[in-house]
Amino acid sequence: MSQIGTLSIEDKQEALQSIAAEVRQCQRCPLHKFAIKGVPGEGAANAEVMLIGEAPGWHENQQGRPFVGAAGQFLGELLRSVGLRRDEVFIANVIKHRPPENRDPQPDEIAACLPYLDRQIELIDPRVIVTLGRFSMSKFFPGERISRIHGTARRHGNRLVLPLYHPAAALHQASLRRTVEEDFRRLPEVLVESRKLAAATAAPAPAAETARPVAPPTPKQLGLFEG
Ligand code: SF4
Repeated sequence: MSQIGTLSIEDKQEALQSIAAEVRQCQRCPLHKFAIKGVPGEGAANAEVMLIGEAPGWHENQQGRPFVGAAGQFLGELLRSVGLRRDEVFIANVIKHRPPENRDPQPDEIAACLPYLDRQIELIDPRVIVTLGRFSMSKFFPGERISRIHGTARRHGNRLVLPLYHPAAALHQASLRRTVEEDFRRLPEVLVESRKLAAATAAPAPAAETARPVAPPTPKQLGLFEG
């Protein structure tokens, strides 16, 4: 067991605050020059569910908090639709400072920033990660297309990853909004499966495979893990 596995909730909170302080001072890539506030992420240090978006937008840049604009309101609705509150989950982004004009983050900026997210994931150790949009999806499933795998939970190490379209994209397209709502409704089932996975992998067992569908789809089996 890693040392992190033995940390108290208070220790985890303190470590997350320390990461947040580093983010606010960070100059590892040029994005800090254009941004007002760093947006490290926020939520429960022991969250079972972690949601990972792309990068801060205009409102997030003003407030230093993730998902506080229109997309954030939609995300709040999605969470409530499955009985979750914002303070029960952890919400973060791949990129911690807003790219100018909301442009896509560059590969070198992503590479510079990812260690913060990796440390947050390691500390929180969520059972389920929900990726929001293609940049966070690519971290776990490089080379995949969001249009192909959205709504399909896949195993990644000892946890499940549920790739979703970004809520901001869904706000601009009614059909995509319905898709995101339907995909999000799978989260409670995915969480149940992730708890079983955690229990199974806690016992001595063969090494886990990574990044493959959890259950082989069969025609009769209603596919929690099917697209
Ligand atoms: S975007 Fe990330 S790597 Fe770049 S300055 Fe901000 S915190 Fe540092």
